[in-house]
Parts: sequence; C-alpha cells; structure tokens
Amino acid sequence: MTTIALAGNPNSGKTTLFNALTGSRQFVGNWPGVTVEKKEGQLKGSRGVTVTDLPGIYSLSPYTLEEVVARSYILGVDMNSGKQLPEEQRPDVILNIIDGTNLERNLYLTTQFLELGIPVVAAVNMLDVLEKTGDTIDLAKLSKGLGCHCISISALKGTNAVSAAETAISIAQSEDSRDAPVKFGQTVECAVSDIAHLLPAEIPQSERRFTAIKLFERDELVRKRYGTLDCEAIIAEVESKLDDDSESIIANGRYDYIEKLVRACFVRKPRGASASDKIDRVLMHRIAAIPIFFAVIFLVYYISITTAGAFVTDWTNDVLFGEIIPPAVEHLLDRAGAAEWQSGLILDGIIAGVGAVLGFVPQMLILFLFLAFLEACGYMARIAFIMDRVFRRFGLSGKSFIPFLIGTGCGVPGIMASRTIETESDRRMTIITTTFMPCGAKLPFIALVAGAMFDNNGGIAFLAYLIGIASILLSGLILKNLKRFKGEVSPFVMELPNYHLPTALNLFRSMWERGWSFIKRAGSIILLSAVAVWFLSNFGFVNGKFQMVDNLSYGLLATIGNMLSWIFIPAGFGDWQATVAVLTGLIAKENIVATIEILYQGDMSAGFTQVTAFAFLVFNLLCAPCVAAMGAIRREMNSGKWTAFAIGYQCGFAYVIAVLINVAGTLIVR
Ligand code: GDP
Ligand code: MG
Repeated sequence: MTTIALAGNPNSGKTTLFNALTGSRQFVGNWPGVTVEKKEGQLKGSRGVTVTDLPGIYSLSPYTLEEVVARSYILGVDMNSGKQLPEEQRPDVILNIIDGTNLERNLYLTTQFLELGIPVVAAVNMLDVLEKTGDTIDLAKLSKGLGCHCISISALKGTNAVSAAETAISIAQSEDSRDAPVKFGQTVECAVSDIAHLLPAEIPQSERRFTAIKLFERDELVRKRYGTLDCEAIIAEVESKLDDDSESIIANGRYDYIEKLVRACFVRKPRGASASDKIDRVLMHRIAAIPIFFAVIFLVYYISITTAGAFVTDWTNDVLFGEIIPPAVEHLLDRAGAAEWQSGLILDGIIAGVGAVLGFVPQMLILFLFLAFLEACGYMARIAFIMDRVFRRFGLSGKSFIPFLIGTGCGVPGIMASRTIETESDRRMTIITTTFMPCGAKLPFIALVAGAMFDNNGGIAFLAYLIGIASILLSGLILKNLKRFKGEVSPFVMELPNYHLPTALNLFRSMWERGWSFIKRAGSIILLSAVAVWFLSNFGFVNGKFQMVDNLSYGLLATIGNMLSWIFIPAGFGDWQATVAVLTGLIAKENIVATIEILYQGDMSAGFTQVTAFAFLVFNLLCAPCVAAMGAIRREMNSGKWTAFAIGYQCGFAYVIAVLINVAGTLIVR
C-alpha cells in the first residue's frame, strides 16, 4: 500500500495530473469536518497505490483552511485536535507539482515540504509551455540544490506523468532521507537547534527540524501542540539581533536561497521585443512622446470638426434646418392658420435653437469615436503616464490626467473619476480644474465660433483643447501656492496594458452611448431652454403692458441681459445677447449655440469681431460648468464652501483670461 499526495500551488496542474494518473477511478468527498473537497483515486494500472489531490496552497503556514487541511494530511495529524493519527493514514510520499513557468514562487512551498521528513518528488510541470517559450530548467542542478528527485512533466499532454508517479513510489519505498536544503544563517540555525533540543524525545528525528522552525515562527497550531514549551526568549533574542520578526526572517531565508537556486538553473530565452514594446519605442519616446500626443489630438479635432464632421454638420445646419424643414413647417403653419407668435416660437425658437444644436451631432459622434478608439487601444493609459512627468512640475499628479481625459467627453464622470486620487489636496485641485477641458457639450459653440467667425478653421477646436490643458497647468501653479493645497503630489503607479485593436462594435457602442445622451438633452433641457429664451426675448413690457415686442431689444431677456452685460465689457462681449448666452450656458453648454442662434437671428458676426468671439469662446470654455457638473463638484467636494471656492475660481480665472485675450487681441489686430 502506497499513498502519493499531490501537493502544490493553486493552478500548478495538480488536478490535471490527478486525472491523468487515476482516470475514472476517483472518489470525491470532503475533508473531515470542512467543505474543502477531497479527491482520492487509484493509480491506473497499479494495485494498492492511492493518489490524493490536495488543496492548492502557497505555504505551510496555518492561515487558510486549505493550508491547514493540506498540512494536517501530510503530517498525519487530526485537523481539529492536532493529535497524531495512525501511521498508515499518512501519505508515503509527496509529489510536489511545480509550475515551471513560475519557478520562484512555487519553490517557496517546496522548501517547506523538504523539511517535513517525508520523501518528496518534485514534478516540474508545464513542460510544453517551456518548450514553446524556449526557456529551460536545468533539472540536474535543481535536484542537487533541493536534495530531491526532480522530473519535468506536462500534466496536460501526459508527458512523463506515469514516470513521475513511478519515481514517487520507488522513493517512498527506499526511505532515503536527506538534509533540508535551506540553511538560515548561523544566528537562526543556533536558535532552531536550541528549540529542537527542548522538544520531547518522542518526536522522531525527521520531524524535529520542521517543528522547531514552526515554533520559531510562532506557528499557532504547533504551539498549541507543545503548549508547555517556552522558547519565547530564544526567539526574541534573534529578533532583536536581526531586527525583524521571526516569521519574516524565515521567509527571507527561504527566498534568498530560492533566488540563488533559480538563477543557477533557470535559463530564460532572450525574447525579441513585443509588438507593444516596438510601438512604445516611438509613441513613448522620451522627447517625441508629447509632440506626438498633441499631433494625435490635433488630428482628432481637425478631422472631426473640419472635414467629415463639418461636411455633415453644414448640411444639417444649412440644408436640413435651413432650406428643407423651416419652409415646410412654415407652409404647414400657414395652412393651419397659426398666430404670428406661434410660428415665431416654432420657427425662430424651437427649430432654430434645437436644430442648431442637433446640427453638431455628427461632429460630436466622430470626435467620440476617435476618443473611444484612443482609450480602447491602450494609448490613453500611456498618455496619463507620459503626462505625469509634465504634470508633476506643475504640482499636479499624472493621476489627474484620467479625469481630464474623461472630461473631454463629459465633465460629470470626469469629476467623479477624481475619486481615485488619494491625496485630498490633489483631488480638490483636480475637481476644480477638470471642467476646463472642452467637453462634448462645449463642442457646438466651439464649432459655431470656428464656423461663423473663423472660416471653419480646424485649429480653433484644437486651440480650445490646448487652452484647457494650459489652464489646468497654470491653475496647478496658482493653487499650489495657496496654503490649503500645499503638500506632496501623490505617486502615480499604473500598469500599461498591451496595445490591441478594439472591436468596431465596442467603439460604436461607446460613441453611441455618449452621443445618444447628447441627443436626448437636445430633446429635453435644450428644447425647454430654447422655448424659454424665445418667449423671454420676444415678450416684454411696452408702455407698461406685457406683450409681444417687435424688436428683441425691448424683450424681457434684453432687460435682464442689459443689467448684467457691463460685467463683460472688458472682455469685449458686453451686449445683452452674449450675456444671456453665458447664462443659458450654465444650464447646459449646448444652450449657448441655441441662444446665439435665436438672439442674433442666425448671424453671429452681427455681434462679434474675431477677437471678441474668441474671448467669448474661452470664457465659456473655462467658466463655471453646467448645473449637472456643478452638482458633481458639490457631491465630490462634499462641502458647500469648497464648491463655492471651485466655482468662484473657475469664473474668476475665465474672466481674467477672456479680458486678457480681448485686450491683447485688440492691440494686435489694430
Ligand atoms: P490545480 O489548481 O493545481 O488543480 O491546477 P489544474 O490542474 O486545475 O490546472 C490549472 C490550469 O493549468 C488548467 O487550465 C490546466 O489545463 C493547465 N495545465 C495544467 N497542466 C498543464 C501543462 O502541463 N501544460 C499546460 N499548457 N497547461 C497545463
Ligand atoms: Mg485542483
């Protein structure tokens, strides 16, 4: 009768080997008293050889149920009482399955098995994988180093499976015992042998070392068994001498030994750089990385705003919402005998306002598609990594770049993404600056200004992006100088994924999710705002009577706008229409386009020069975001004071920059 225990790390291939060795002759049950599965089987083609599949473990410490089960079984003790069981219930040999592709981690357990005083055979598994990668393991050296038989197998292919079992059987019968391989250095060895001397005489020689080491580690289960034994003084002396706790001392001793052994017998085949590495050599180049990043972003904006996007958007704006729908609706309204105000509301309010916003949907979808691609292929993760170097100089962490990237889609999830930043001051700074990025909803007015004032120049949207980033960096410098933001920048650690081509389906899904929520907003909040803007601008008090006005500058909105418009005179857009557009932009940034369309009656250049239009663009880009994003700021700051500070800072910063642009621009243009 021989019993072979298959033991090793989880996923090393124990069950695969077990199945190969036993075929269908298996009995599955539970280990006594616990729910850990116990599998036993008869070795194929043999009589009286039992194979046991033990739970996967990393160590013989008593911390997990699996460890306790496996260890008790190997030591032949009762799991619950710790009492020694009859000799025949102990396995005769351990067949230690080692994952050959992960030698270092697996050998940690092996060194412990070799201290138990039970014959051990090491089966180095995954031979097929090693052959594929070209890595080699010198089994003779490994055998010599460990002091046990080693054999390489492939449990999956069945290679050497039977001879591993046969080796185990012959070792079990020969009973040759060898010294444990790991020596711990003199101080520890002395302590271990001192403890071994204290052990009761009935413990066999072969188990004394393991027991002494476990006592030195203050192992709970072994201590319980030898409760009367006091070795605390011995342990404490070593601990103070080596300035470490006893468990770590032992673990370090094992790892030192394993490291040397692996270095001697594992030969890694030099591999050529992977495709990802090759791409990174260019995209992550020390100097070129950032120019390449900006070139990529420029292309993304250029293509989405100027070429394909502009073509479709021009068509929607000029043809669909210009030549097709309005005349048709006008005709219908005429036939239905609609009142003047009714056709005004529908044509100049709803169709002009909502239509103007919807016109930008194609550009936005193309932009979202590009951003989804950059994110999914793995490039954006690298950008965060690269930008960390830049951001650090400005007192920001590369971690902040993730919220900023997300913020180019929508500021709300961007602000929420700041949660991953541990340092509170870094997080607050990120929340304050995230909405400086041109989000999807800001794209329409950026494109509107580019189209109406700058001859559809593709550089305008890219410039908005640059201004967003520059404002973030500048704010980093400004805010870091405030006392409340002082402190170390959080470290930035992230694993770079390999590049891969995303599936078209995933890209379109991501694009559509963002785009659809935009379209829904056009049909709800923006529709409502357009109606309100039309009413409030077309009705007002004339001669003390509230009625429809024949000139928008007598309407209610003009009155409100005129009360506030002086604020924006230094920035160059101090008329009531632009002021109202800023205000409606706080409800939703798309409203700016709708409001401009209604109030300037389709002709933006009536109210702006290139300089003031650009100052207007930048102010709306940087000032307080829409109510949804302000709500997100409030939630993430979790403080009314901080929210007020954030919004005040954003508006103040935007105002200063807009005024600077107006002043400088006017000087230059003149
Ligand atoms: P256990 O957790 O130790 O029982 O490991 P399993 O026997 O469940 O094996 C874990 C995984 O490794 C499974 O996907 C096996 O198919 C795979 N595996 C096991 N042995 C080999 C082998 O020799 N070569 C290869 N390529 N895969 C193996
Ligand atoms: Mg298993």
